[in-house]
Amino acid sequence: MPFSKLGLSSSILQALDKSGYREPTPIQEKVIPLVLEHHDIMARAQTGSGKSASFVLPILELWSKSRGEGKAKIKALILTPTRELTLQVAETFVTMGAFLPKKPKIVSVIGGESIGDQLYAIQQGCDILVATSGRLLDVVKKKQMNLSHLEFFVLDEADKMLDLGFAEELELILQEIPAQRQNLLFSATYPPKMLLIASRITQTAVEVTLEAEEPTVESITQRVIEVNRENRGPLLRHLLTTEKWEQVLVFMANKRAADNIAMKFKKYGFEAESFHGDLVQEDRTYTLNQFKAKKIKILFSTDIAARGLDIDDISCVINFDLPRSPADYIHRIGRTGRAGKSGVAVSFIAYEDMDHFALIEKRSNIKLPREQIEGFALTGTPPPKVKGPDPVKGKGKSKKDKARELAAKNANLSGNK
Ligand code: AMP
Repeated sequence: MPFSKLGLSSSILQALDKSGYREPTPIQEKVIPLVLEHHDIMARAQTGSGKSASFVLPILELWSKSRGEGKAKIKALILTPTRELTLQVAETFVTMGAFLPKKPKIVSVIGGESIGDQLYAIQQGCDILVATSGRLLDVVKKKQMNLSHLEFFVLDEADKMLDLGFAEELELILQEIPAQRQNLLFSATYPPKMLLIASRITQTAVEVTLEAEEPTVESITQRVIEVNRENRGPLLRHLLTTEKWEQVLVFMANKRAADNIAMKFKKYGFEAESFHGDLVQEDRTYTLNQFKAKKIKILFSTDIAARGLDIDDISCVINFDLPRSPADYIHRIGRTGRAGKSGVAVSFIAYEDMDHFALIEKRSNIKLPREQIEGFALTGTPPPKVKGPDPVKGKGKSKKDKARELAAKNANLSGNK
């Protein structure tokens, strides 16, 4: 189905054409007409599915039709979990609104940059505000922003906000915006905590799910390589020289590990850099732009920094350190194989990681073959298991049984004296 059948006006179709969007992705096909009909939406959508455009396009469409004369009023508020995603969404609004008869004024409000500048930009006129919730509240507290004309409230990648004390922030934000508004929620998963948050925002949402739950993962070849931990660096260098990966995103367990390994790889002559939450915003933006421009080929990143990263050309994701949860695994590997391209995701596992990776596979409903690479094969023997198997439910000893046994043992001991 072409975009022209979705009810979008010619100036938006022109912007789509210029951006090379030929036809809507499945999520766009479903969501755009519903938003244009003023429905609330609760969509299950991954990054890479084209979810941003599925709200950006109809919001621009409705906004351009209802825009009154006079000074701009904030009509749409989009909350995202990270600074990077905020900037990307704002950019999508700018690109897609470029040919509208009157261009919308878009302002991003994020931490790490001058709050004064952001306030000034809002006061100069703002139609669409894209923000991370923490910084938005800082701005709200200054009482120099009027959110009472809001018509659209969007949460993007809402499940990524759950761990950031978002519930309390949301309550404060809800106090600032009109009760009557159109709500659009996008989240990769809907755990109970997310549903609770959703219920605070809307009771009438149309739920949108795609038949294939994780459409992006299908275009990703997943590999698991067994390697001793101390050999992971040399193996990575070997793979980088033998495989034809162009842009590689390597996930590290923490910031220090990301910094250390990036430094080592630079010494070895690779175009590498680290990327994590401790970098100032300016450095993060610079590194990201260098990576997008392919001046940096290997980015060593932590999970937090990679959230919301929107780069279409990552050919390979490496789990140098395994992610903690199956959800993080899916999220990480979804950074490749985007926008119709194929990608590779490689996980390094040592003896100590085997159980954990098996659990990730089980929860994600996958089973992947193990590989070993010549010259880097596993050596040594698996460390002995520290903990025995969990007791089988119903067969294990209860606390009471154990207490009885102990009492009996003690009684025997004292009886033997
Ligand atoms: P998102 O899931 O919103 O992060 O989008 C993933 C990527 O797909 C972004 O880089 C978009 O620019 C791109 N994209 C979104 N919709 C389309 C489309 N209909 N055709 C081609 N590319 C698209």
